[in-house]
Amino acid sequence: MNTLEIESIPAPDETLANYIRRIRVSLGLSQKELAKKAGIHLQSLGKMERGKTARFNRKTQNGLAYALGVPDEYLEAISKGVAVNQTTALKFCPECWRPGTAPESLWMNLRAKYCFLCGVELQNRCRSCHQSITSLKHRFCPYCGTAYKSVP
Ligand SMILES: [Zn+2]
Ligand SMILES: [Zn+2]
Repeated sequence: MNTLEIESIPAPDETLANYIRRIRVSLGLSQKELAKKAGIHLQSLGKMERGKTARFNRKTQNGLAYALGVPDEYLEAISKGVAVNQTTALKFCPECWRPGTAPESLWMNLRAKYCFLCGVELQNRCRSCHQSITSLKHRFCPYCGTAYKSVP
């Protein structure tokens, strides 16, 4: 999995159907493969991608989030028509995150405050200038040049 989290953030006007299809295609999965991975019926997935299903139950949501490699909050937000707040969504553990790799989806959980691996407080802004982090593709803060990851 090398899809960075920023690309999996739903666009503000993106529909559930478009979002699922976009992420599925970016992962190179067929509808059949995604349905199997998510543990849902191919027909249900087909309906979703045709925009016939606007909401789904928690089991389907969790399965899809897992299969698409996105936080289930994103699916929840998009099915409710709520925009995902990018600044709160982009969080990482300064100890465990390796620059250049996709952050763990559990860090992106909108309610997560601490790292599930080591217990350190998650970071969503630059330690030095406190500008919010706009992309985890960057290793250094674009505003002040401080490395996002703490130096060992
Ligand atoms: Zn950690
Ligand atoms: Zn900075």
